[in-house]
Order: sequence, then structure tokens, then C-alpha cells
Amino acid sequence: MMVTLRKGAKKKEIEAVSEKIKALGYKPYVLKGKDIITVGMIGECAEKYKEVFESMDAVEHTSEIQKPYKLASREFKKENTIIKVNKNIEIGSKRIHVMAGPCAIESEDLMIRTAEIVKDAGATIIRGGAFKPRSSPYAFQGLGEKGLKYIKESGKKLCMPTISEAMTVEQVGLLSKYCDIIQIGARNIQNYYLLKAVGKQKKPVLLKRGMATTIKELLLSAEYILSQGNSNIMLCERGIRTFEDSTRFTMDLNAIPVLKKLTHLPIILDPSHGIGIREHVGTMAKACIAVGADGLVIEVHPRPEEALSDGPQSLLPDQFKTLMEELDPIAKAVGRELLV
Ligand code: PEP
Ligand code: MN
Repeated sequence: MMVTLRKGAKKKEIEAVSEKIKALGYKPYVLKGKDIITVGMIGECAEKYKEVFESMDAVEHTSEIQKPYKLASREFKKENTIIKVNKNIEIGSKRIHVMAGPCAIESEDLMIRTAEIVKDAGATIIRGGAFKPRSSPYAFQGLGEKGLKYIKESGKKLCMPTISEAMTVEQVGLLSKYCDIIQIGARNIQNYYLLKAVGKQKKPVLLKRGMATTIKELLLSAEYILSQGNSNIMLCERGIRTFEDSTRFTMDLNAIPVLKKLTHLPIILDPSHGIGIREHVGTMAKACIAVGADGLVIEVHPRPEEALSDGPQSLLPDQFKTLMEELDPIAKAVGRELLV
């Protein structure tokens, strides 16, 4: 339920509403709009206390949030969420941010070289996995903490924020120590303990949609993180599994307008995993921008044929540079910007 306060409500009155919510065994979430302050009362059957709040002087009205995902819904928050990463990056505002780098961090040298390449082409965030969710237990599993040190070094050297994946609750502390954004991968989207753990820390989270996750389930997973107090969440469409096997996954571009209507959270698209074929990544990246992406994830490798993970979908440095130049006018055509 949402408790909307009268215009000009005082700090004390907001606190009184929050205290009452807590006393009833619910969690209050204060949302400060331009002139209206709303306090979300989140938990099951909150509506039964409607009259308790409507009888308070400072309260204008109450309203029910119909959707099962409360804090993630547009009903709760109308304005788009803008996520600040470090000091100078805002995800969800006019500029589209590209997170690029290798699938896996393979060595210090590769990480730094690739980071330089993607920065030069206009990417603003460095990506690279240190803990890799591989289908085969015999495939390269990632360098672990050593890899995180390499990506952190690259970020420091190039003054760029970094993103990497946490696969377990234990890894969350390491990720928040070394990286600026924590990725939750497609395979872990319904690992609720992991979601709660990233919700309890402050670093922004990129939540990837699972290959068999509905839009509603994706938003409910985001709700797990939000419910723990972390509201810096980006949702990521990275392709779902369908009957089609000509491509690695099927990029669900339908999801973007639908999500934009349902949620205030920014949406990042990952055409690399979505199609899984280097030759077609660029075409899909263009479609992603056209459909309203707030950011992209693109895998780049200086020698994809030698990559330890996802070589077939990784762009060569020159391909990435050309693609960034081609994406720029498309971003402008949809009222955004990319290369500035
Ligand atoms: C990745 O980003 O390298 C990755 C493993 O992604 P996903 O979880 O979408 O498969
Ligand atoms: Mn990958």
C-alpha cells in the first residue's frame, strides 16, 4: 500500500507514518517526489490498515499497489530510476552506457588491453567475469579473486567503473570490494539468498533475466533485492530459450516496451549472449538501441579464437569500434546519446 502525505508534510509527520508502519510489522519505504512524499508500506495484506493511516492528519490518501512486485512497479514510483555509478555515470538518463570487455578475465594483460580498446571506442564501463557459470564443469571457471584484482586495476588505470558477476552469497563481499557493479547472471536469477545478499549491500546490481524467466518473475527477483534496501538495480534482457536453435538464445525485444511500462528500473540489453554469433551481434545491438535500451553489454576480445569463454560471440576490436560509431546516430534518432 502507498501512503501519500499532504503537500508540505513535515519531517516529524513522515517519521510518524514510518513508525506506525513499523509498529504494524511492515517495512516503510519513503519516496520523495518533486512535491509529493509517499511512504510505501510493503508486506502482505497492508491494505487492511488503510483507515489507520487515512485518519492521520498528515495523510492525503492511501492506495493499493496491484502488482505483486511492489517497489519495482511504476505504481510505486512513476519517474525512471537513475543509477549513479561512481561519480560521473548515470544509468537510465539520456546517455546510453556500453559495458564492454571479455566474457572472462583471462590474465592481467588481456584485461588491461581489452579495457583500453573498449574505452577508446567509447565504452564507459569495463566488464569481465572472474567467477564463470559454465555449462561444463571442465570448462574454464574463471580466475576468481585474482581476476577481480585485474579488473579493478584496469578500472583504476582507465578511470572507468567495472562490472563482474557474483555466483554465490560468499562472493558478494569480494565483488562489492573490487567492482562498481555486481552482476547476477541468468542462471542465478532465482537464487533468492543471493538476491537478498546483494540487496543488503550498496553497490548497484545488474540483474540478468534467466533463459526461462517470465517478465513477472524477473520483476519479482528485482523485488527481492529492493526489499532488502538496495534500489540501484538494472534489469538485463539477454535472450530467452525458445524452440529456435539457429541462434544461441532468442532476444526478447518485446520485453523492453513491456518492462518500461511496468517498472521504473533502467533496462540494459545484451545482444552478445542474446544471439551468440559474432557476425550478428552488431545488427542486434542496433535493434537494442532502437527499442529503448538504457545500456548495452557487449563482449569484446582481442583474439576471440583463443578466448577461454564465449569466443564465437566476442567482437574483434575493430568491429567494436565500427559498431560504436554506427550506434551513435541510432541513439540520436531515438532521443538519446552514446558517444559524447
Ligand atoms: C556473462 O555475462 O558472461 C554471462 C555468463 O551472462 P549470462 O548470465 O547472461 O549467461
Ligand atoms: Mn559470456
